[in-house]
Amino acid sequence: MSTPSQYWNEPAETMSVDERAALQWAGLRRTIDHVWSNSPFYRRHLEAAGVAPGDIRSLEDLRRLPFLTKDHFRAEYPLGMLCVPREHLREMHMSSGSTGTPVVMAYTDADIDQWAECMARCYRMAGLRPGDTIQITPTFGLFNGGFGFYHGARKAGLFAIPASSGNTVRQVMLMRDFAVRGLMGVVSYAARIIEELDAKGLALPDLGIGIFGAESFSDAMRRRVEQRLNLRAFDIYGMTETGGVATTGMDCGARQGLHVWDDHYLTEVVDPVTGAPVPDGTLGEVVFTSLTREAMPVLRYRTSDLTRVVGRGRCACGRTTLRLDRIQGRCDDMLIVKGVNFFPKQVEQALMEIPGVLPEYQIVITETDGVCDIRVNVEAEEGVTGFVVEKHLKERLGFSPKGDVFKPGTLPRSEGKARRVFRRTA
Ligand SMILES: [Zn+2]
Repeated sequence: MSTPSQYWNEPAETMSVDERAALQWAGLRRTIDHVWSNSPFYRRHLEAAGVAPGDIRSLEDLRRLPFLTKDHFRAEYPLGMLCVPREHLREMHMSSGSTGTPVVMAYTDADIDQWAECMARCYRMAGLRPGDTIQITPTFGLFNGGFGFYHGARKAGLFAIPASSGNTVRQVMLMRDFAVRGLMGVVSYAARIIEELDAKGLALPDLGIGIFGAESFSDAMRRRVEQRLNLRAFDIYGMTETGGVATTGMDCGARQGLHVWDDHYLTEVVDPVTGAPVPDGTLGEVVFTSLTREAMPVLRYRTSDLTRVVGRGRCACGRTTLRLDRIQGRCDDMLIVKGVNFFPKQVEQALMEIPGVLPEYQIVITETDGVCDIRVNVEAEEGVTGFVVEKHLKERLGFSPKGDVFKPGTLPRSEGKARRVFRRTA
């Protein structure tokens, strides 16, 4: 048997600039006509901005379209943004977010196939081959993670163990008994597995590949998980509104940024305040337009995720897609303390550099009359003091939050995506 290619879809992943532009233009044209003809919501949305399909004559005209935000999804709950007859739907996923009003994404057969295709590319990019066994640790439910990994595994010819979350001892048993090669989930759960193995004095399973999404994690956290679980960790990207995990890409083995599947999505990076495009290399809010989705396509969806374009040329891995920096944080996560801007991920990076500090932490922000006070609670091994933590944070962040050290296993844990930032008003 010949060795499978390093690409799942070589033509799509190594397109020339011209091929890509032609494909993206065709996809944009088709999507605009589709939403205009089939969605009263989109027709209202475009008409309110004074735009009709005929006004969009090139990829550059994309900027004439109005932005879409999470608020549109919430206002149109449950299926107000649907662009196909309801009987064409086959699946849905939903996220709740901070206000509790759900965001729904519905899928036709073709949408599920598009999702699986994006995921299959990520699997292959991470080095997984047909016949490899993977363990899927996000829950199988409304959250898109479990099913996203699953649909992609079917397409990529992988043997999927739908372990879902929880019961770490059983997770480890499955990894060992079924010779799991790839661990799928959120990075905080990988950290949890390490913790539990350490606590029970169990040997670490030999994995090889980990694909982690839904949370932005620091390089220092990545290194820890890689070293302790003996795997190579990949940062996968995607969200409910674009169609789920993997749809908007993953970072490759060369670690030159997140490869966006740009035959399926158009990417813009804009100033979060003005909405104007920012130059490549400048931090801004990433905006996606789907080019191939049927049930609930998005036109210029503002993700709130902050990143920058890091490359448009061929990557060391051979792919030619647009590359984004790993996500730095979310617009609403940015903290400003004493005039210094920072993201929770930078706090995590600084914490993980301290020997003996463990991966469970909380950032507690107390606001009094508009002035933020920050306290960092972190678990650490014996010998690490609050003073050590504060000193290092001061060096790395430029200001000095209070640091409280907790015994291992004492901070509250969340199932699935970890909650790190807590805001309080005094
Ligand atoms: Zn690459």
